[in-house]
Amino acid sequence: MNAVELHNVYQQYGTMAVLDNISLNVAEGEVLGLFGHNGAGKTTTVRLILGLLQATSGQVRVLGGTPGDSDIRRDIGFLPENVTFYPQLTGRETLLHFARLKGAAVQQVDDLLEQVGLTAASSKRVKTYSKGMRQRLGLAQALLGRPRLLLLDEPTVGLDPIATQELYQVIGRLRDEGTSIVICSHVLPGVEPYIDRAAVLALGRLEAIGSLHELRTQAQLPVRIRAAGLTVAQLSAPDVQTIRPLHGAWHEVFVAPADKLATVQRILQLQPQDLEVQPPSLEDLYCYYMEKAGALGVAGVQQ
Ligand code: ATP
Repeated sequence: MNAVELHNVYQQYGTMAVLDNISLNVAEGEVLGLFGHNGAGKTTTVRLILGLLQATSGQVRVLGGTPGDSDIRRDIGFLPENVTFYPQLTGRETLLHFARLKGAAVQQVDDLLEQVGLTAASSKRVKTYSKGMRQRLGLAQALLGRPRLLLLDEPTVGLDPIATQELYQVIGRLRDEGTSIVICSHVLPGVEPYIDRAAVLALGRLEAIGSLHELRTQAQLPVRIRAAGLTVAQLSAPDVQTIRPLHGAWHEVFVAPADKLATVQRILQLQPQDLEVQPPSLEDLYCYYMEKAGALGVAGVQQ
């Protein structure tokens, strides 16, 4: 059974079309990254899955049932984009409060605080928490009741790189335990290793969906090869699309994916001081699909 199924979903707010014929599935135990520019329709998709919105047309199935049904809602954890808490409560009091509201076992609270690395700060008031600590508390709140499906809306906005990595590590552990997870974001760096598939929404349409390998195969973007200690003349060859000087003794060349191995072999024979091969990143793929959709003007990729 899929955790989420959207079939030919259209969504309008008034007369404005926001989602246009979206079909996608999230398998059990899968992490799907849902990426798109501001206003692409990510939060709207999450609200449909939560049952907070009824699709204008099309079908939405969640955990084998209808979104919004109380049995289904209990199995979903949600971290909203702007998570807010009572500033006077401690982290532990906050989670106890949400556990009671959600009907979740209060014994879970200390385990969850431990899981998100907040045990030491659990008796401090939330008003003293950093953004990263509040976001972790938000994640712990979403994990109350051991949800089978977790929806995370912009979970890393405002987090520093270390806090971002730590949050993704928690997500990685949850995936290993079989939780299905949807991560909505326009912050792409760092998320790549933690998603099984990426979906790219542009102007309300699903522009692409697949594993990074599948998206790379589909997009056929050039591969970047960096070499140190060689000249432009040495690196030039008919299959090299572009050569750019970098800092120090480095240059980078771009070749079609099919020419990657032959180019690496040729460069190695020239005995470079060093060599790096970089396939197109998630950011490269995102920009490619945004451009393809004609959405570059509205696309905001945060680096
Ligand atoms: P962001 O990355 O900025 O959070 P998003 O991809 O989550 O954007 P949505 O919040 O789903 O985008 O919004 C999609 C479109 O729907 C936007 O044009 C937005 O202005 C519009 N929209 C969202 N909620 C409403 C609403 N309640 N009433 C009218 N229009 C809305």
